[in-house]
Amino acid sequence: MNVFKFGGASVKSGLAVKNVAKIIQEHKNDSLLVVVSAMGKTTNMLENLVEAVFNESKNKQSIFNEIKVFHEEIMAGLVENSTRYFFEVENLFIELECQLDTELSDISYVELYDRIVPFGELISTKIINTFLNASGISTRWIDARNFIKTDQKFSKASVNWYATKELIEKRLKPIVNRQIVVTQGFIGRSSLGLSTTLGREGSDYSASIFAYGLDASSVTIWKDVLGVYNADPKQLYSAELIPQIGFQQAIELAYYGASVIHPKTVQPLQEKQIPLYVKSFVERELSGTLVSEKNNLELPSCIIFKDKQALLDFKTKDFSFIVENHMTHIFQVFSDLGISVNLIQNSAISFRCIVDDEPKLFENLAEIFKDKFSVRVTSTHRLLTIYNYTNGAEEKYLEDKKVLLEQKSLITAQFLFS
Ligand code: ASP
Ligand code: MG
Repeated sequence: MNVFKFGGASVKSGLAVKNVAKIIQEHKNDSLLVVVSAMGKTTNMLENLVEAVFNESKNKQSIFNEIKVFHEEIMAGLVENSTRYFFEVENLFIELECQLDTELSDISYVELYDRIVPFGELISTKIINTFLNASGISTRWIDARNFIKTDQKFSKASVNWYATKELIEKRLKPIVNRQIVVTQGFIGRSSLGLSTTLGREGSDYSASIFAYGLDASSVTIWKDVLGVYNADPKQLYSAELIPQIGFQQAIELAYYGASVIHPKTVQPLQEKQIPLYVKSFVERELSGTLVSEKNNLELPSCIIFKDKQALLDFKTKDFSFIVENHMTHIFQVFSDLGISVNLIQNSAISFRCIVDDEPKLFENLAEIFKDKFSVRVTSTHRLLTIYNYTNGAEEKYLEDKKVLLEQKSLITAQFLFS
């Protein structure tokens, strides 16, 4: 039993969807679970829609229309008389349109987000499943929310592993044994029955959760690049493909921001020793990258840029030592607010950390800490991480940049700059 994951870029047009169908067709006799993301940039458009609905902005209808037309064009590119086939997609659009009139008095922004944004994946998988069936490939559409059980931290939900594992093992496995299953990445459902999402780019993680529950033999993430590189090949022309990498190394690269794999993806696979292939959906004959237990492989120096970073600067007001007295408090607040920390640095009475820039989360920081610290937030920085660092390797990336913070360890060097 294998798990395939197709991201937004692999299904961004009618032609792209046909290519995905071809790949599935080649595996139509295997037992296979196929996880698919929203098409192209749909999730971004849906985020704009959430914003517009929440602010009762006039353009909510036009954003909705734009999303609908984008998908209609894809469907029209797949089969003739597409409306005859895709009536279930039409139903989803009716449901989505109803969300434009959501009663806003007692719903938070993130709850509304998790009501609206999952439509990207629901629609995309319906289109693909319908097209596969119309092309004579028998597959079954499954709602991932019936299996991926989460808490209710909307927009960043955590998986309830116990419930999820049990449902996948008991209820999903027998289905995948009989038929290829097509399902969504990124989405889940809370125990109260509300839709949730796992964080942006969370579909890789979904694939790995399913693989874990199914005891899959492998996971393949099909990408628009040839595999995992030592830098983003779209940004750095000289990037090299890494043919093989250990689970632990992959977790570290993903953590530092190598965008090719979602950071949480590797851990469940590592636990069950399920190999992960990252390969191109275009040049399918190439073997891409294998992520597996084999650690301590020689890796080239890796260059990772992480955008949209904020610097939070804390200083104790009474000049008390920060480490001894205050760390627990600060981290408790971060955890409650869902702030994810990428780097920390402290001196006697100050503490600085680099976090993903989400201004909404920082709004109340000064107020929360006002008795103990002064807090300064500066944003729109970038973080450069060089893994397997050699002296001076940063220079060519940081010419004429202002470095705000730097930190080196034995293997890694990090630089925050703007
Ligand atoms: N569609 C979601 C996103 O764009 C999840 C994913 O693509 O992995 O963030
Ligand atoms: Mg995506």
